Amino acid sequence: MTLIPELPELEIIAERLTEALAGEMIDGVVVHNHLVIHGGTADQFAETAKGKSFLAFRADGKFLIMNLSDSLEILVNPMLTGRFRISAKQRSALKSDIFSIQTGRGTLWYADKKSMSRVYIIMQGDENRAAGFEGRGPSALDPALTLEVFRTRVPRFQGQIKNVLQNQRFVKGIGNAYADEVLLYAGILPFRKRSSLNDGEIVKLYDAMRSVLGRYREMLSHKGLEDLGPEKRDFLMIHNKGGGICPLCGGRISEVTANRFKTSYCQTCQK
Ligand SMILES: [Zn+2]
Repeated sequence: MTLIPELPELEIIAERLTEALAGEMIDGVVVHNHLVIHGGTADQFAETAKGKSFLAFRADGKFLIMNLSDSLEILVNPMLTGRFRISAKQRSALKSDIFSIQTGRGTLWYADKKSMSRVYIIMQGDENRAAGFEGRGPSALDPALTLEVFRTRVPRFQGQIKNVLQNQRFVKGIGNAYADEVLLYAGILPFRKRSSLNDGEIVKLYDAMRSVLGRYREMLSHKGLEDLGPEKRDFLMIHNKGGGICPLCGGRISEVTANRFKTSYCQTCQK
């Protein structure tokens, strides 16, 4: 099974990293796995970052951006298994470690078991150099994404509604797990064709997207960095709970797996 960091986690990860490291100078950078460094060599990455300061961290859809001094940014696409940790003590690198950044307040470690991440150091404004960054839709939690805006975007996308929700060109930040949660609360089966949804269902989908993501973001907001991995999502209502009890109707949760990605749904609550 594959668990991907999605917008609610990444926004809180960015908050935790900002609290821990904003204002800290980068004393040293070690690249442990150069394969995931893009747009330059590992040495260039380390030398460019060294001596700069962390200003802030933010999520942009499923990317995490570290703002540095001198208008630089480290942009990370964690893909499937990218994880951030801060350790106060020195330790040696593990096989999964990608890079480590030393500061006076501890070391930021970035690890990825599958080495599928893409990491860049770029000038602010050059984010479109990162694969998959350009052409994405508004953030699923962006206040500017009103129902009206959402409604005008929907007809541009075809196929099953779960795939549309996960399409970053439609809205950015939703992946496999939260798409299942949103569709349960919207009362819509994941396999429905987008074109089959009526306007009432579009409204329900929008309301469920905002309320579900907002609620989960709030639930995550007090967690520490080590508890923000997607494997720690013990609060989900339906995703990955096939055979369990639907929290809305008490019936059995159904589940199918395609390409290692699970889809969980309720045949009673979702039409
Ligand atoms: Zn149900």
